Amino acid sequence: MFESNKPTVEDTEENRAICRQYCKNCQNYKKHNLEQFQPNELFCGCGQSSETGMKVIGCFCPACPLFTKYHLRGGYFCVRR
Ligand code: SF4
Ligand code: SF4
Repeated sequence: MFESNKPTVEDTEENRAICRQYCKNCQNYKKHNLEQFQPNELFCGCGQSSETGMKVIGCFCPACPLFTKYHLRGGYFCVRR
């Protein structure tokens, strides 16, 4: 019940624009060419990348304003939801 009240990250252009400032500069994103796989941004709202078998190299999510705003935990949302 507590979990279901957790606000979900809305898939809006505004949120996507914020995400691009972080995900697209991250080593994990660049190394695995995540722009080529869907979803290719806003992983915390849209779910993990369809790229599989990624190594986890480094995640910028904890620096992202949406991470704080939505009380997200952990990061690496491109790898796991
Ligand atoms: S928390 Fe991570 S995946 Fe979500 S918008 Fe920010 S940088 Fe993108
Ligand atoms: S979710 Fe984290 S690890 Fe994945 S691309 Fe975004 S910043 Fe990088």
